[in-house]
Amino acid sequence: MTASSGLTDADLVALPKAELHLHLEGAIRASTAEELADRYGMSAPHVGSFRNLSEFVVAYEAARDLVGDLDDLWRIARELVEDAAAQGVVWSEVHVIPPTYAGRIGPDEAVLEAVLDGFRAGAGDGSAAGVIVGVNRGLPMAAAERSLALAIRYRDSGVVGLGLAGDEANHPPGLFTDVFARAREAGLRALPHGGEGAGAGNVRSCVEDLGAVRVNHGVRAVDDPAVVDLLVERQVCLDVCPSSNVALQVSSSLEEHPLPVLIAAGVPVSLSSDCPLFCATSANAEYRLAHERLGLGIDTLARIARTSIIAGSCPDERRIAALSRLDTWRARCGERRAPGPTGGGGDGRPRP
Ligand SMILES: [Zn+2]
Repeated sequence: MTASSGLTDADLVALPKAELHLHLEGAIRASTAEELADRYGMSAPHVGSFRNLSEFVVAYEAARDLVGDLDDLWRIARELVEDAAAQGVVWSEVHVIPPTYAGRIGPDEAVLEAVLDGFRAGAGDGSAAGVIVGVNRGLPMAAAERSLALAIRYRDSGVVGLGLAGDEANHPPGLFTDVFARAREAGLRALPHGGEGAGAGNVRSCVEDLGAVRVNHGVRAVDDPAVVDLLVERQVCLDVCPSSNVALQVSSSLEEHPLPVLIAAGVPVSLSSDCPLFCATSANAEYRLAHERLGLGIDTLARIARTSIIAGSCPDERRIAALSRLDTWRARCGERRAPGPTGGGGDGRPRP
């Protein structure tokens, strides 16, 4: 299909990119979610928009409940990498929080190993994935310690960093300063969520207190120019998910999304789908929305893809090959660029 902008679906697949912000249970292949729901006599999770975080948490827990055993988890992980390859995603970083299973399908180690094995089974020339072991803000601190211990133990076996997810309004990043300090001492990257369900102060705290090298979402940084300056100065990448932000009412509409403003300010950004199962989106759908609805041109899309490839832990050989193909893509698509419906040519500046 050829879009009015001139970027075809095949062009988006050909764009080499990394997806640095998605959650395993929120990325279950839709047909697999239906199959598992049938098998276990459950409802498939809600798809669409959510009135508040509580409603979203219910959907997320419903998705986790579809995972009946370690084999299901292995399959979900393998399919995630296969689906990524089909979209031209060369590398994915996926949040997994083993303590949220509370031993239901096995010990934390078995949960993590099933995911890592599934990723290895799905990986090939096209794509591969690493795990961000997450800390769930709402669980007791003992669960955060378990996540940290797991992340350290599997650091050289597919875990790329320590994440932080959940209700940031009631559990700010500063509560986890010590956990993240020990993660960094152990050589793990700090990859927390912030600036989604609470304001710019949490983005600052992620950077200054937790030592974040990237912040998942982080879009509310836009409310405080000093925090935007901090991100630019330290070149902290925001892993932005526009469809998720609209579904969870972080942004009132796609057209109001701050992505173009952040890019214009010089903040490094990557684009991701966050929870494609609930938001009915994909990495490529996010690039298309950024192009057609937010007015980002070919050069800007290529820059976002480049940032995604270099801001994560994509293995060297894969990264170098992807960057080389990206140069070719930019030259080929740039030659036939056409202004989008918003007039976005290639500069990536926000619309007037
Ligand atoms: Zn997320």
